[in-house]
Amino acid sequence: MTQIFDLSGKVAIVTGANTGIGQAIALSLAAAGANIAAVGRTPAEETVAQVRALGRRADIISADLSSIEPVQRVVDETIEKLGGLDILVNNAGIIRRADSVDFTEADWDAVIDTNLKVLFFLCQAAGRHMIAQGSGKIVNIASLLSFQGGIRVPSYTASKSGAGGLTKLLANEWAARGVNVNAIAPGYIATNNTAALQADETRNRQIQERIPAGRWGEASDIGGAAVFLASRAADYIHGHVLAVDGGWLAR
Ligand code: NAP
Repeated sequence: MTQIFDLSGKVAIVTGANTGIGQAIALSLAAAGANIAAVGRTPAEETVAQVRALGRRADIISADLSSIEPVQRVVDETIEKLGGLDILVNNAGIIRRADSVDFTEADWDAVIDTNLKVLFFLCQAAGRHMIAQGSGKIVNIASLLSFQGGIRVPSYTASKSGAGGLTKLLANEWAARGVNVNAIAPGYIATNNTAALQADETRNRQIQERIPAGRWGEASDIGGAAVFLASRAADYIHGHVLAVDGGWLAR
């Protein structure tokens, strides 16, 4: 039974693998057998050391994902260093908070560029390779704000709603060509991304009270869903946005 989740010999790109959810996903994929290309602007030395300690191969690929400039190189370097590309996890992302009446073009562009534009073009570059080999798994990291509106995060909501939509569009185009495109929508996970919310006593309490599981998620809570969507167990799952949210959306 566990063999359907086995990723032995597979090569996975994980963007933003140095910390938080990306690091946890990289370690979970490696525990399931995958070799890891840890892509980001901050070298993921700790992640690579931990992946190697699990007996897998891992390499750092330096790339600032605020523009599409490094996208093709990331895919080419992964194939060159690790011998292939089977899984893409689009995890790198940023958030900017301000009232919509004051929101700046700079905060709009920065978030849309990293969270949506680069996500699409990484899907395209990896997808071309995966279509040619007749197989591949893409997992985009979406958000509860792929389903809900949020507040004071207009570019983030637009980017994550867009990521959910693109996941479905790409699934429609690529499902018959052996490539699965799905997404994970993490709930409230304790990482750098949510440090401001965790530090705000009132918001922190309100958030925990609304989560049926009664606690913030840990980055490691996302790992199992990523392994599942990257594995043979998900071969017939296309265009799905899987919430891993302690029940938030069920409320
Ligand atoms: P995080 O700890 O802030 O991690 C974000 C990651 O993205 C970091 O590795 C960061 O690298 C990388 N990144 C950002 N901009 C980049 C750029 N221009 N080039 C390369 N890498 C870049 O936050 P996280 O919570 O783990 O977030 C991971 C993903 O989950 C994001 O897409 C986020 O939107 C999503 N998400 C998080 C939550 C949550 O509650 N935490 C909920 C829903 C969705 P640096 O360390 O170099 O900045």
